[in-house]
Amino acid sequence: MEFSQNIQRLQPSATIAVSSLAKQLKAEGRDIINLGAGEPDFDTPEWISDAAVQGIREGKTRYTPAPGTPQLRQAIAKDLQMRFGKEVDWNGVVVSNGAKHSLFNACFSLFGPGDEVLIASPYWTSYPQMVTLSRAEPVFVSGTEDRDFRLTPEDLESAYSDRTKGLILCSPSNPSGGVYSLEELKAVVEWARDRGVWLLADEIYRYINFADDGPASGILDLPQESLGPFVLIDGVSKAFAMTGWRIGFSYSSVDLAKKMSAFQSHTTSNPSSPAQEAALAAYVETKRAEVEVKRMVEAFRRRRDLVTGLFDELLPGLSYVKPNGAFYLFFRVDSLFREGMPDSSAVCTWLLEEAEIAMVPGVAFGEDRYVRMSYATSDELLKEAIRRLARAVGTL
Ligand code: PMP
Ligand code: GLU
Repeated sequence: MEFSQNIQRLQPSATIAVSSLAKQLKAEGRDIINLGAGEPDFDTPEWISDAAVQGIREGKTRYTPAPGTPQLRQAIAKDLQMRFGKEVDWNGVVVSNGAKHSLFNACFSLFGPGDEVLIASPYWTSYPQMVTLSRAEPVFVSGTEDRDFRLTPEDLESAYSDRTKGLILCSPSNPSGGVYSLEELKAVVEWARDRGVWLLADEIYRYINFADDGPASGILDLPQESLGPFVLIDGVSKAFAMTGWRIGFSYSSVDLAKKMSAFQSHTTSNPSSPAQEAALAAYVETKRAEVEVKRMVEAFRRRRDLVTGLFDELLPGLSYVKPNGAFYLFFRVDSLFREGMPDSSAVCTWLLEEAEIAMVPGVAFGEDRYVRMSYATSDELLKEAIRRLARAVGTL
């Protein structure tokens, strides 16, 4: 049976596969510590969930306009406007079934056969697949390790060709935890502007930032004249612990927003209406939401310190990127490579078997020398996982 060329190069998501396997092994009675899942371990704040329940009771259970309710789009635009002090047209906001969905809408609407799309590497595992599903070519650009892989215009220039149509950038980064400073971001964004390349800025981890007091620098923090054509991607999954609600959004020019909305109207109709009610509460009650975000970010910061401290103490041979945001530790494992264990996938399989820890191999993010650990879990489990890791590699 022949399948369409559309999915010829399609691979399942490694992040989701690891997490599903860990859950399955746990259900079979194995004592697995799951550090594969990239999702906050907190529950959605109760008042946000209550807004959805109330919405259901009030009959908000029908189709909404394809790009989301005007109320939610306006609330998101207002939130962006308040945070960045820039005029934000709510007609440029398209609400979707998650940031992943918004990224796909953008790739599919902007790229096609013959186009090349630059992807900052190490990258979140779904970007190349989305570009390939759009029948364009992913081109990977990696910054140097001493800059925690953050890109410079020179890095981008060396990968640019006359077919380059887009650049996908993620800060704070999944998987490295690297965060661009405002100056670094400005340099990269202005490079994209000067080259007339579409910038897809994935800012889903913007709130989860440890370097400064407050969110990480985003593209809307830059002066208007620095910006060329862009799509800003964000959502409620990480900031408000709402991964299962499936609400994300894009903010772009109104023209592009109309195209993505038309695309959505044929593929999903609209994001779930009760979930939109929950998201509306998060974006309208900004002061309340800020308190929740602060509480979660403090917990992530404490765990970042815990994990890096334990690595320094118990795993001195394994170097890592010091995370300044998100909730991942990206650490080097090539010193463990040997016959029979030649790559990051083999290391992860070995650690799952020997130490019962589930983590995602770096190859899924374009960096086979590394492994990604999510530290969005309890202090006790993190301590136990790192002890197991140290015992497995023989340093404890
Ligand atoms: N971008 C990045 C970098 C992510 O890690 C995730 C989390 N899966 C997403 C986008 C998608 O988030 P959402 O749950 O909103 O689809
Ligand atoms: N963002 C998370 C991760 O990278 C969730 C899983 C996914 O959607 O890929 O693990």
